[in-house]
Amino acid sequence: MTAAIPFDNSYVRLPNAFYARVTPAPAPSAQLVKLNRALAEELRIDPEALARSEGIAALAGNATLEGAEPIATAYAGHQFGHFVPQLGDGRAILLGEVIGRDGGRRDLQLKGAGRTPFSRNGDGRAALGPVLREYLVSEAMAALGVPTTRALAAVTTGETVRRERALPGAVLTRVAASHIRVGTFQFFAARGEVENLRALADHVIARHYPTVGAAPEPYRALLAQVIRRQADLVAKWLLVGFIHGVMNTDNMSIAGETIDYGPCAFMDAYDPATVFSSIDARGRYAYGAQPSIAHWNLTRLAEALLPLLADDQEAAVSIAQDEIEKFPQAFNDAYLAGLRAKLGFADAREDDLALARDLLDRMAANRADFTLTFRGLCAAARDHRADAELRDLFEDPRSYDEWAVRWRARLDAEGGDAAARGAAMRRVNPALVPRNHLVEAAIEAAVERQDFSVFEHLLEALTTPFEEGAFDPKFYGSPPAAPGYRTFCGT
Ligand code: AMP
Ligand code: MG
Repeated sequence: MTAAIPFDNSYVRLPNAFYARVTPAPAPSAQLVKLNRALAEELRIDPEALARSEGIAALAGNATLEGAEPIATAYAGHQFGHFVPQLGDGRAILLGEVIGRDGGRRDLQLKGAGRTPFSRNGDGRAALGPVLREYLVSEAMAALGVPTTRALAAVTTGETVRRERALPGAVLTRVAASHIRVGTFQFFAARGEVENLRALADHVIARHYPTVGAAPEPYRALLAQVIRRQADLVAKWLLVGFIHGVMNTDNMSIAGETIDYGPCAFMDAYDPATVFSSIDARGRYAYGAQPSIAHWNLTRLAEALLPLLADDQEAAVSIAQDEIEKFPQAFNDAYLAGLRAKLGFADAREDDLALARDLLDRMAANRADFTLTFRGLCAAARDHRADAELRDLFEDPRSYDEWAVRWRARLDAEGGDAAARGAAMRRVNPALVPRNHLVEAAIEAAVERQDFSVFEHLLEALTTPFEEGAFDPKFYGSPPAAPGYRTFCGT
């Protein structure tokens, strides 16, 4: 019996230029590492069927599920500012789409299931470490309330992949609203294929932005909506201390989800210049650069959409500019609203941004831990005695004291119930994020000692990030000093 999955594949119904049909490469001995049963159920997939040998075979690429139509999608992209006209899924294979319980359409994709026509020199494979990393971080992001692709399953292939050294191979099954990227639009725009561009835009409108279909200028409305969602997304990243690490236009989802977890990481000590990625020597994708990079990427999307915005080139450029100029305000609004919630403010006052910036500047100057500082404020909002632990996070604790006087004056001016405020703050200031040393420890145990218990334990804790749960207390404390921590792309 095969794992019955009710596929309904809309992307393969688009013109042939959009993808290449592919067959996943077999894995010599597939083993299930992790299955996301709750997510399977949300997708109306029977988790028991996936956990059986036929299901595992399909998750490893050894069998094709009934109804799946495996393809690799074509896209282009700006990588570190340089345009590459053809990238495409080099080691990701889209099995098809399912409609979840919420009525939403989702892609099911195997990442690491072998070569495709877009693999160039790559082996089409993924190593176990990066697969576990994507599993942990993407599921953590979902629990934190950040729009993201999800992890449905991880399997090992029994094959060795060559990176800096030989590593165990693995396949991640990824779930996404879609895998359409800014770079997918660039692919057709760069080739001057306006009809394909229009077909793509219509597909995206129907799938992700159905309300704009009725707008007087639907493609302009589409651009406006993508800009809004991206502004909200990047604000959410900043508010949890997330650094994507490789915000190339091919890694920016048109649906506004976080996608392509490669060298991503969460920052410990607050510093807007934080970069972990080994290939980002100049800090193009540093934590604090992410809003301006998103703006830059969206400008590339607007350029790609020009042929659809107006018949006249000048008119099209002017429409694109009008929309693109709205990004900074959209980002600032979302970011400030998030900061207010993190600081415990229910209403909006004139100096809130200045007060928040002052805290962030002091945190940066004092190497204060981002997550612990904001979590500490939840208790401090109710009780001055909680200041003791909080001020110790600052190299010069007086720096916190000075700020706290102004913060408390602001809280007092607003009034309200202190207990309710503390509870509301604890719903937006996580106690736990997938810190680098925690993720590394989970990967190391799995890869070096075939011990998956560390991964399991961390994953479970990450699914309830707003509670100091019944998990390892070390998860919730200060991280060990780790100067020069580096992340790598070769997922
Ligand atoms: P990334 O920046 O990691 O999203 O990847 C950029 C491009 O390289 C995409 O087209 C990927 O599909 C491709 N790629 C990355 N790793 C591999 C690999 N191991 N084999 C084949 N293609 C790859
Ligand atoms: Mg990518």
